[in-house]
Amino acid sequence: MLKANTGQFGLNAEHDPPMVVALMPSTQRHRTVAIGVVVVMLAVSALVAPFVNRQIGKIDSFLPVVQTVTSAADLLTATLLLAQYSVQPHRALLVVAGGYIFAGSFAFLQTLSFPGSYAPNGLIGDVYNTPAWFFVLWYTTFPLSILVYALLKDRGGGSRFSTTASMATTLISVFAAIALLSWVAIAETRRLPSFFTTGLMLQTSLSNQFNIGLSLLGCFVLLVLFVRRRTVLDLWLMVTLFAALPNFLVAAYEGSARFSVGWYTARGFALIASCMLLSVLVTEMIVLYSRLASALVMQRRERSNRFVSIDAATAAIAHEIGSPLGAITLNANTARQMLAAQPRRLDEVNAILRNIEEDSLRVNATITSVRELFKGAVDRPATISLEGIARQVLRLLQHELQFNGMLVATDFRVEMSLVRADPIQLQQVILNLFKNAIEAMASTSLNGRRLNIATRLDERSSFVLLSVQDTGRGVPPQHHDRIFDAFFTTKPSGMGLGLAICRTIIERYGGRLVLAKSSPQGSTFEIALPLEDDRRGSA
Ligand code: ADP
Repeated sequence: MLKANTGQFGLNAEHDPPMVVALMPSTQRHRTVAIGVVVVMLAVSALVAPFVNRQIGKIDSFLPVVQTVTSAADLLTATLLLAQYSVQPHRALLVVAGGYIFAGSFAFLQTLSFPGSYAPNGLIGDVYNTPAWFFVLWYTTFPLSILVYALLKDRGGGSRFSTTASMATTLISVFAAIALLSWVAIAETRRLPSFFTTGLMLQTSLSNQFNIGLSLLGCFVLLVLFVRRRTVLDLWLMVTLFAALPNFLVAAYEGSARFSVGWYTARGFALIASCMLLSVLVTEMIVLYSRLASALVMQRRERSNRFVSIDAATAAIAHEIGSPLGAITLNANTARQMLAAQPRRLDEVNAILRNIEEDSLRVNATITSVRELFKGAVDRPATISLEGIARQVLRLLQHELQFNGMLVATDFRVEMSLVRADPIQLQQVILNLFKNAIEAMASTSLNGRRLNIATRLDERSSFVLLSVQDTGRGVPPQHHDRIFDAFFTTKPSGMGLGLAICRTIIERYGGRLVLAKSSPQGSTFEIALPLEDDRRGSA
């Protein structure tokens, strides 16, 4: 079938790729970057380890700057996640967004209460315990939200309520919880256990126990997420949880943790981690947006090129006028018999001739309407590289190939060999072959889906060849001759025009499109186009 790329992005179909970045499967590139970030953090930790306990004094501007930025990054991340939820309502996204609102809010409240940040004794709460409690609230609500996310994420599905109602309920509940917990941390500090010995600013043993507890909670959630990891979001949440660990470790093992080298480093890590998820989301959204935009452009082009081929047009006309023509033949035959019979039944012959006339007018009207359909489809041949077009189509389908777990291997050997054809039509041909291959592999096991694309130059015939090999179900021998016929399809929603149109396009430019090989293990389609004249000498 000649299909539009964007047609694959419906929300409900099981095999359709997710529309939001957060739910996309992580790729090798994402994993490499994430591992790189973790390695850098480990290297920095190793570098500062000997000095972790060393006090470098209080830098007043450090905490307000770092934590305000962390808080802004967290709240922006929450906004992006909510925006993604509105596109693809998946309950788990709401939970992470809630977690980020908790983190961003408590980070900011802690900064407000921290002595020497926005005011010498902090703007809210008591000098010592309020910031410490905000720290605890920050690092319990966030990992707990991630834990709920990790447990919910594979269950799929949205909530029973509308998207707006679910978002509003989440926001109201999260902010109500923040207000309540903050009130306790600010106004009821006296009733809460104390983390610092007043005056000396030394941590109590309870503080150490809490820090160990928070590290264990962080490690546990990290482990759950690791076991259930799949998406880009899972990956960066793991990095974020990992980056938070030094905060507790430093605090747990140091007698007076604040303002030591370790303390500053740990806060820096938390900032980097917050900004990282945010930048990954923004970058990937821009990439996705550009792909969707190209797909849309391509879909528009496809619409105007859909019926470019004369053969396909003929096939469509033949389909439409088949029955009136059949009736005309039958009627003419009957009329002849009546004229030959004695006595001649001229009245009946007259009626039959009227029928023939009406059928002919119907045929004429059909041809006129089909011609209207083909108007505006013009060829714009250009000298192009077959490989270049194949690469463009691969880029367009990258997301879909990745989502369907396809392993793509390219073996391009004719970089400099050019052919003459309309680039848009050639894009459609290659897109159709790739899409057919993807569909043929839908029933293959996930680790056996392989798409091999190769180009080579046939020096003898001066043809450039592009082969598309898949590991799908193959074309059964009885269909080999029929798959290029118009309206032949084995798919429930297929039109059976794709290969017919593709073949006509390729033949129009002096080439051929064939099923080169097929077996139950897969098939190989091959396009051959004549090498552009100017290049023949140099090929
Ligand atoms: P459609 O995709 O609408 O069926 P096409 O003309 O593109 O129309 O394909 C015609 C038929 O050829 C398909 O229905 C399918 O049976 C067969 N076919 C095409 N490509 C492949 C492939 N890569 N592997 C197996 N069968 C294929």
